[in-house]
Amino acid sequence: METGRETNVIKLDEEFFKEFEKELQEAGMSIKDLRSCIQCGKCAGTCPMALAGLEFFIKKIVHAATLGLREIFLDDSSVWGCQSCNRCVEICPMEIKPYELIQAIRRVSFREYAMPSNTIDGLQNYYKLGHAVVVKGYENRRKKVGLPELPPTALGNEEMRKKFQEMLKNTVLAEVAPFPLD
Ligand code: SF4
Ligand code: SF4
Repeated sequence: METGRETNVIKLDEEFFKEFEKELQEAGMSIKDLRSCIQCGKCAGTCPMALAGLEFFIKKIVHAATLGLREIFLDDSSVWGCQSCNRCVEICPMEIKPYELIQAIRRVSFREYAMPSNTIDGLQNYYKLGHAVVVKGYENRRKKVGLPELPPTALGNEEMRKKFQEMLKNTVLAEVAPFPLD
């Protein structure tokens, strides 16, 4: 019978969520586990990124995962702000492991090139220089206190840096890096 009412339909991307479920399984979790989230918000209440004022609604991400809302994953750049402190895991009353969920989202987002530009810059620095964040302009100050201009890490050791790059070329980065690994 024609009712004249409109119905909103959310189209789920099954392939995408199969990939996501695989990532969750590697962390010992499943989408079924996520469905036990009671949306209490304790994870966000203890997260240092949320407390610092960033929009970081972990419970929203958990909810989106249980509903299969792909766009929320790929559009929400807050997952890249996670500092890996694990506080959300310790406080969750349902043992959801929000931190592991966030890492799984990062891995699927990475494969879809859905990353903020500063994350790509950090990754490129990591590959080229051995550090995601490189502090520049301190060489003279180091010299003044008797230190070499560059620290004795991959940054100041070309041989070590080349070995590090060869190692990264044998990882998944070789398939998905959004920049050339030369
Ligand atoms: S603390 Fe756990 S149960 Fe509560 S909203 Fe966060 S993930 Fe869900
Ligand atoms: S592990 Fe990440 S998401 Fe969890 S509380 Fe720490 S910063 Fe927030």
